[in-house]
Amino acid sequence: MNTPMPQSHSFISDTSEPAPLIPEGEDEPPEPGALATTPVSRPHRHTFGQIVRFPIHRAGIINPAARLFRKKFFPGISTKLWNDWQWQVRNRIHTAARLEAMISLSDAERLAFTTAARALPLGITPYYMSLVAAHDPDQPIRRTVVPTVQESIHTAGEADDPLGEDAMSPVPGLVHRYPDRVLLLLSDFCSTYCRYCTRSRMMGHAALYPNRSRLEQAFAYIEQAPSIRDVLISGGDPLLLGDEKLSWILSRLRQIPHVEILRIGTKVPAVLPQRITPRLVRMLRHYHPLWVSVHFTHPDECTPEATRACSLLADAGIPLGSQTVLLKGVNDNLDTMRQLVHGLLKMRVRPYYLYQCDPISGSAHFRTPVQTGIDIIKGLRGFTTGYALPTYVIDAPGGGGKIPLMPDYVEGREENDLVLRNYENQVYRYPDPCAACSIS
Ligand code: SF4
Repeated sequence: MNTPMPQSHSFISDTSEPAPLIPEGEDEPPEPGALATTPVSRPHRHTFGQIVRFPIHRAGIINPAARLFRKKFFPGISTKLWNDWQWQVRNRIHTAARLEAMISLSDAERLAFTTAARALPLGITPYYMSLVAAHDPDQPIRRTVVPTVQESIHTAGEADDPLGEDAMSPVPGLVHRYPDRVLLLLSDFCSTYCRYCTRSRMMGHAALYPNRSRLEQAFAYIEQAPSIRDVLISGGDPLLLGDEKLSWILSRLRQIPHVEILRIGTKVPAVLPQRITPRLVRMLRHYHPLWVSVHFTHPDECTPEATRACSLLADAGIPLGSQTVLLKGVNDNLDTMRQLVHGLLKMRVRPYYLYQCDPISGSAHFRTPVQTGIDIIKGLRGFTTGYALPTYVIDAPGGGGKIPLMPDYVEGREENDLVLRNYENQVYRYPDPCAACSIS
């Protein structure tokens, strides 16, 4: 059954300014720290197929496909409104009827809306919908956001919470799995829902809200644990909060002396690049060292809009890394992955992790054999720069953390030589100083 998100979510308002998240008078965040006031305006050069120039503050970018889509389904909507991120969120496609008005659904897709087992709601921003093929249910982008009945098929080894996050949550919405870092989930709301989401069990149910009392519990937990030096803010998408609320959260975390690094995990640059505004990045740059993990899955996401969003973040000195999930029928071949990692580098995003798809309930149609991922890494290593190479990992079911997977380049040992095979399948020997025979 379809589980539509409410039309008017309290994350957004009808004004052009970001809305406060907390209802008036209940839990207002304090005033944010002073925001930088001098906008940076200069031509920007990128290489998305061709060289284009645009002032960095300009929000009027719209690629030709999106322009056609807007004309067809949102006639009369100006470029300015289209590029208003709050308009994009308010007008996201979240019902079967709206979806079917835009694309021809396959039987498997239509059935998804009458199957009660589907946990994750439908949500697609108009911008991201413009990247979806109207008549091809196998198009990679479409597979990642349009539900199918296969989500209701549960196979052996799958679980609603495969990483055991709920058991490692000392405070609601705070996951403490590794010794020196925590994951702080701000909300369960995303502008676009990925059908393979590891947190499908909780996303879009309006059960996890960034209210001040819950967040203060999380801050208190972090304050009393000096070993925590790194906080990853994720969700739901943290960048769907208004600038003031987000600034308050970051400033609270910055007040904790032992928190050295802040990180934000977001898919916004791929699905809602309009959210990355000069005002947002002027606020973010106050909280360095701040890293942003973005979530790209396919080269078709590397549009001029996404390039502009990543440029704004990178120009604010924010290091960008991409976390990509290996998905059957989406990016599970070398050619697609090569295009993706090259596209990311051109947007100044370092491919960071390639995840084996977590065994969430109803994910069999997305999961590939592990060997597929190893073969992709083998096909990239040596054939392109090491900067383009993500670390391929399995997030161990049950909460074991990320375990890296590598092609095996070590053939063995012959006396003091380590025998190695390079990317061209040639064998080389390295005189490996063994502990017993080394000269001190
Ligand atoms: S953006 Fe992240 S949290 Fe949101 S649905 Fe996609 S994978 Fe899940």
